[in-house]
Amino acid sequence: MNNEQNTNSETTHGFLGHPIGLKTLFLTEMWERMSYYGMRALLVLYMTGALTGFNPGLGWSQLEAQAIYGIYSGMIYFMVVPGGWLADNILGHQKAVLYGAIIIALGHFTLAIPVQQSFFLGLTLVVLGTGLLKGNISTIVGQLYSDEDERRESGYTIFYMSINIGSTLGFLICSYLGEKIGWHWGFGAAGIGMTFGVIQYIYSKNLLGNVGLRPNDMEDGRRAKLVLWTKLSLFLMLAVISSGLLGIYTFDPRGFAENFYYFLTVVAGTYFLYLYFLAGLTDGEKKNLVLLALLFIAAAAFWSGFDQSASSLSIFARDYTDLSVSGYIIPIGWLQFANPVFVVIFAPIFAGVWAHLGKRNLNPNLPVKFALGLILMALSFIVMLFAVGVALESSPVGMEWLIITYLLQTWGELTLSPIGLAAFSRYSPKRYVGQMFGLWFTASAIGGVLAGLLGGDALEGGLTSISPVFGFMIKYYLIIALALIVLSFVIKTAKKT
Ligand code: GLN
Repeated sequence: MNNEQNTNSETTHGFLGHPIGLKTLFLTEMWERMSYYGMRALLVLYMTGALTGFNPGLGWSQLEAQAIYGIYSGMIYFMVVPGGWLADNILGHQKAVLYGAIIIALGHFTLAIPVQQSFFLGLTLVVLGTGLLKGNISTIVGQLYSDEDERRESGYTIFYMSINIGSTLGFLICSYLGEKIGWHWGFGAAGIGMTFGVIQYIYSKNLLGNVGLRPNDMEDGRRAKLVLWTKLSLFLMLAVISSGLLGIYTFDPRGFAENFYYFLTVVAGTYFLYLYFLAGLTDGEKKNLVLLALLFIAAAAFWSGFDQSASSLSIFARDYTDLSVSGYIIPIGWLQFANPVFVVIFAPIFAGVWAHLGKRNLNPNLPVKFALGLILMALSFIVMLFAVGVALESSPVGMEWLIITYLLQTWGELTLSPIGLAAFSRYSPKRYVGQMFGLWFTASAIGGVLAGLLGGDALEGGLTSISPVFGFMIKYYLIIALALIVLSFVIKTAKKT
C-alpha cells in the first residue's frame, strides 16, 4: 500500500463519518453484489430445471450442475488473485474496478440471451470481471485510511452492509423475474443492476481522489515487460476459453471441480510457505502470517457451508419446502433473503458487542471468533439434519427450518467475514497486502468449490443422501473449531480486534 495515496484519510466527514470515497465504493459494490447474488440464486435452479414447461431449464443432473456451480464460485474468487496483480502492477485499482464492472455487466447481458450457447460465455465474463473488481474494490477501501486510522474496521463494516443490501436487492428482483417470468429475464436484471453500478462509478470516481489510482512505481522497462507478459497470458487464456466454448475439447465438470480444489489448496499452501520462509519477513510479520494462515483454513471451511445456500439448500427449498405465504408461492431464491437481512439487522449488534467486550478487555481473539463462526455453521447444519428427518417423514417441510439455518449461518458470518477482511488488511506484510487479499479470497474460492462438490454428493440420491454429507461437514467444522481454540492458547501472538 502506498502511503502517498492516502490523501482521503484526512477527510473526516465525508460519508457516515468516513472518507467520502467510501460512498463510491459502497454503491459500486452494492450493485455488483446485487448482480452476483441475484444471478447465482438462479444458477443451479436453471441448470437442473426441467427441459420442458413454462420456464425450461437445462435439465442437467445434480452432480454435474453442482460441480459447475462449484467451479464458477471457485473461479469467481480465485480470479481475484490475477485481478489484484494486474491492478498492482499495470492498471491501478481504480481502473481495474471500472473494467471489471463493465465486463461483469456484459457477462450478465450475455446470459440474458435465451440460447444455451450464451451460458458458459456469460459465466466466463462474470468470472473475469469479478476477478478485476471484487478484491481491488476491497483493497481501495483499506487504502482510504492511514495505518493509524481507527476507522478502518468500521469502514469495512459499512462496506459489508453494501454487500448485503445489494444481495437483498438481487434475490428480490432476479429470483422473482428469473423464476416467475423466465430465467433469462433474471439474468438480464442482474446486467441492468451492474450497469447502474458502472454509471455511478464513472460519475463518482473522482471522490476517490488518487487513492488506488496508480499502479506500483517501477521502471518503465520493467513495466513494459510485465505488459507484454500480460498480453501473452491474456491471449493464451482467450484461446483456451474460446476453444472450450467452441466445443474443441470437453471436460467432466465433477473431475475438473475436484482437481481445481486440490490445485487451489496447493497454491495457497505453497504461497504461505513461500512468504514464511523466503520472503524475508521480520519475526513479527511471520507471527502475523501464522495467524492469517489459521484464519484462512477456518474461512475456507466456513464458506464451504455458507455457499451451499445457492446449491444444496436451494434445491432443498425447491423440492422439500412449502413456499406458500398466504396462498402465494414465493420464488425459491427469496428464502436466501434471510442471510443479508439478518446481516443488516445483526451487524451493528455484533459490532456493539465486540466494542463492549473490548472496553472490558474481554474481546475474544481472532482464532476464537473464527472458531465461533464454525461452531455456528455446524449448528446450522444440525438444524438441517432435523429438517431432513422431518422431510423424510412427510415433505414438504415449513420454511422456518431454512430460515433458522440461515440465521445461524449469518451469526457465524458476522464473527468471521468482516473481521477476516479487516485482519488481512491490517496484519498482512505491507509489501504483500494486495496478494494477501487475493489469498483471503482464495479461501472463499476453496469454499465455493467445496460447496459445489459437497452439494452434489448431498443431492445425488435425493433426500436420503443429504444426512451423511451434512453429518460429515458438521464434524469437520467442529474439529477445525476445536483446533483453533487450542491453537489460540498456544500462539501467544493471537490478536484482538
Ligand atoms: N458475503 C460476502 C461477499 O459477498 C463474502 C462472500 C465470500 O467471501 N465468500 O462479499
